[in-house]
Amino acid sequence: MRYYLSLGSNLGQRARHLAQARSLLQKAGVIIVRQSSIYETEPVDYLDQPWFYNQVLEVEAARSPMALLHLVKEIELRMKRRPSVDKGPRVIDIDILLAGKNVVQTNRLVVPHPRMSFRNFVMVPLAEIAPDFIHPLFHLPVSVLARMTGDSSAVRKVGEVHHQVQAV
Ligand code: ADP
Ligand code: MG
Repeated sequence: MRYYLSLGSNLGQRARHLAQARSLLQKAGVIIVRQSSIYETEPVDYLDQPWFYNQVLEVEAARSPMALLHLVKEIELRMKRRPSVDKGPRVIDIDILLAGKNVVQTNRLVVPHPRMSFRNFVMVPLAEIAPDFIHPLFHLPVSVLARMTGDSSAVRKVGEVHHQVQAV
């Protein structure tokens, strides 16, 4: 099944943590079909913490949504994600955003991720790699939803040079 995953890190070597998560997913047989740029993003829920690095992956996995959740939780543990403040700093966070057109609603797993459409740090990278994907509940393309988040927090591509025109 085709999935979209969101990766986030705001502790230590953030880019390395994202790379390690990608590599552990691949070692478990998950195929990374497409990956967004890495974005540096302002924290939203719990504001007094370092900025995040975020990335969205399109992956192919021969697993059910629940089995994929087990795998990502295992990877988080393996990367020594320690329980911290709710929505607080973390070495790695891996969320399942979308599972094809499927809708999952259990105590442990909700897909599409219920908060994805309200977060620039998810929708901007997702729109980079899947602008035409139709959200299975809102029936709107990701590119449209990305402009409707109502979130004003900053999201900028890592490594992008912001040229400043200097007055002569
Ligand atoms: P956050 O909401 O900041 O991602 P956690 O990563 O600690 O917090 O996730 C808390 C719980 O959310 C997980 O243990 C998991 O059971 C549940 N959950 C529900 N839906 C999803 C989803 N789509 N992706 C990942 N986790 C989910
Ligand atoms: Mg999570």
